[in-house]
Amino acid sequence: MLLAEMPWPQVAALSRDTPVVIPTAALEQHGHHLPVFTDSMLVGEVTRRAEEALRDKVLMTPVMWLGNSEHHLDYPGTMSAAPRTYISLVADMVENFIAHGFKRIVIVNGHGGNTVPGQHALFEVRQRHRQRDDLLLLFAAYWALGAVPHEADPSIEQRVMQHACEWETAMMLALAPHLVGDYQATETVDPASPFAPAMRAWVTKDRSPPGHIGTPALATAEKGETLFKIFSADVIHLLERAINWSGRGWN
Ligand SMILES: [Zn+2]
Repeated sequence: MLLAEMPWPQVAALSRDTPVVIPTAALEQHGHHLPVFTDSMLVGEVTRRAEEALRDKVLMTPVMWLGNSEHHLDYPGTMSAAPRTYISLVADMVENFIAHGFKRIVIVNGHGGNTVPGQHALFEVRQRHRQRDDLLLLFAAYWALGAVPHEADPSIEQRVMQHACEWETAMMLALAPHLVGDYQATETVDPASPFAPAMRAWVTKDRSPPGHIGTPALATAEKGETLFKIFSADVIHLLERAINWSGRGWN
């Protein structure tokens, strides 16, 4: 069910055990070849497919397109909620649905910069309601739910999500090819981090003057459709687990 298309009495009539799905994304630079709305369009498509498969079983909000994109602010056009603002934004959206009586809330994230503040927000909300044992608050990036895309298509070279990369460019070629620029002319930007596995704080211009990270030139629309299928299946599986949760306690 799409919240945006429902009158409020229809929402009021829902079982409060219905999982609420909030897709989160960003409006930020995606190199020279992809539009700034890439993350929002991609998580929008992944969650559209999931909602279609689970229609009456989940309540889905519109994509929260404003993300925590401070590390991309050197590139004109990027919009960002600073990390502390973003924590409050996500916490408030979750609190809205707790106030309406819903108990299962799933953030399906489409932008890496949202992960740390988004998880923090859910943790804060959980502590605020620490006496309750009937809340299920989940945060998951759609590409990090177990997908191994190169097993489905060995021509996919990328192994983990990068930025405006083979995966994202491929999905944009499948979804909105008219918005994809000359990705074949882009150079590879090595995604390696010399201090890994330590997390090094970064601004994107340190790593990539053009803005992308990875090898966009490897993208094809066919790879993009394969990725959409894999990622949406993973999201559907997670939402089914939320639907089937007992309603109390840890398991
Ligand atoms: Zn992206």
